[in-house]
Amino acid sequence: MNCYDEDICTTVSRAEGSYFPMSPDITMTSSFRYETYEDFLAVSTDEKNNYVYTRGTNPTTKILEDKLAMLENGEKCKVFASGMGAISATLFTLLNAGDHVLMLNTIYGEAAAFAKYLEKFDISSDRVDVQQASDLVEHVKENTKVIYFESPSTQKFQLLDIEWISNYAKKRGIKTVIDGTWSSPLFHKPLNYGVDIVIHSLSKYIGGHSDIVGGVVTGEKKLVDTIFEHGHQSLGATISPFNSWLAIRGLRTLPVRMNHLDQSIRVVLNALSKDPRINQVYHPYLGDEDQQKLAQKYLSGFGSLFSINMVDDDFEKLTKFVNSLNVVSLGVSWGGFESLILPAFKGNNIEKLKERGLKTSHMRMYLGLENPQTIIADIQQALDHAYGKNDL
Ligand code: PLP
Repeated sequence: MNCYDEDICTTVSRAEGSYFPMSPDITMTSSFRYETYEDFLAVSTDEKNNYVYTRGTNPTTKILEDKLAMLENGEKCKVFASGMGAISATLFTLLNAGDHVLMLNTIYGEAAAFAKYLEKFDISSDRVDVQQASDLVEHVKENTKVIYFESPSTQKFQLLDIEWISNYAKKRGIKTVIDGTWSSPLFHKPLNYGVDIVIHSLSKYIGGHSDIVGGVVTGEKKLVDTIFEHGHQSLGATISPFNSWLAIRGLRTLPVRMNHLDQSIRVVLNALSKDPRINQVYHPYLGDEDQQKLAQKYLSGFGSLFSINMVDDDFEKLTKFVNSLNVVSLGVSWGGFESLILPAFKGNNIEKLKERGLKTSHMRMYLGLENPQTIIADIQQALDHAYGKNDL
C-alpha cells in the first residue's frame, strides 16, 4: 500500500489495550523506572534506543521523530528544543578543531553567528554569496568539512542546485547540511538528492500555531545517532513531551495548511509584483528561468515566506508603511496563522545590509492563513498611507 505524506501526518498510533484515543497520550515524565536491576542494565547503556531519562528519549517525542523521519525519507530523526538547538548540536558534532564550515547565501543569522562563535575552538567559517551552486567551488578550502545552506535562502529566497552540491561534497568527503524550514518536509525532500542532514525549525510550519519552539535533525541512522550522543546529550536542548505532542497535532493539519498556502501565496505575489510602489518581490515563484527550473525539480509546492523592498528607500515612509498595517503583524518568527512583517533594517545594521545587497526598505514577510485578498488589501492601504495611492 502507498504511504502518502498526508497519511503519515494525520494518523496517530493506537494505544495498546482497551481504549483507542484519537490523539496520542503525552508521556509527561522526566525519568523511567525498572522492575529489576537486570532490566535497568539492559537499557541504561543504550539510551538512544530505550527510555531512561527524557533528556535523551521520550515516547511522545519518539512518535514525532518517527513521523518526521518518514516524511523526510530519512532513516532516523532526532527532535530538539529549538531549531537553533538542532543547528548548534549538528555543527558541534560534525566539526573538529582545525575544520572549516562553508555557509552559502543568506542563512538564518543565528546559525552563522554560532559558526563564528566556534572560532574559539579553532573552527573557521565563511558565509559567502553565490549565484549558482558551482560558484561555491572557489570558496572550498582543504579543511572544509561541512557545507551548510538553505534553499531557498532567507531574505533573497534564491534556490540552489542541491543535487550538484551534494555530489560535489561527497567526492571531497564534505558533509552537507540543509535547513529546509522554508518549504516544510512536505514540499521539499533534500535527502532524496544526497544531502546528509536536513534540519527544520518545528517552531514554524510544523508546529503551525505560533505556540511551540522546537527543531529536528534527520538523516542516516549512524550520523543522527552520533549527533544524538554528542550534540543532543551534551548540549541538552531537549524538547518537552508536551511540545512534541503539540508538534504531532500541528503535523495533522500540515498538508491542509501547506496546500492552502501554496495557492494563496501565488495570489498575493501576483498582486504585489504588479504594484509600482514595490521595487522587488523575492520568492522562487517569481524567479528567473533558472530559478523556475530549480523550483520545478526540487519543490512540489511553495512556502509563503518572501521579501519585498520599495522603489523609494526612505526610512520615514518605511516606518509609516509598517505602522499602517492593520492585519499583518510586526514580529519575529513565522509559520503560524497570522501574517507577519519583519523589516531587515534594525537601526544600526545599514553596513551589514549593504554587504548583503539588501536595501534599507527590505522587509521579510510571512503570508499566514488569512484570506489572501485581506492581506493584499491590508498591504495596499498601508502603501497608500506611506507612498500615496497607486493610480495605475
Ligand atoms: N531556520 C530558519 C529558516 C528560521 O527562520 C529559524 C527561526 O527563525 C530557525 C532556523 C531557528 O529556529 P528556532 O527559532 O526554532 O530556534
